[in-house]
Amino acid sequence: MSKACTYCGSDVHAHEPVFVDEEQGGERTTIGQFCNYACLARYIEENELETGACCQIDLS
Ligand SMILES: [Zn+2]
Repeated sequence: MSKACTYCGSDVHAHEPVFVDEEQGGERTTIGQFCNYACLARYIEENELETGACCQIDLS
């Protein structure tokens, strides 16, 4: 498996890596790996992954 950061392409193991898993069809799958939370945060921001996604907020 590649060691490149999903956001910036650096070797994640040169930092303190953070991994993101999703459950897809009942299987846990790693969909992203990041140098640290800063890269994860930027990735989420730029891809608008948090838009309307909070399970705690009733948007209706
Ligand atoms: Zn990175």
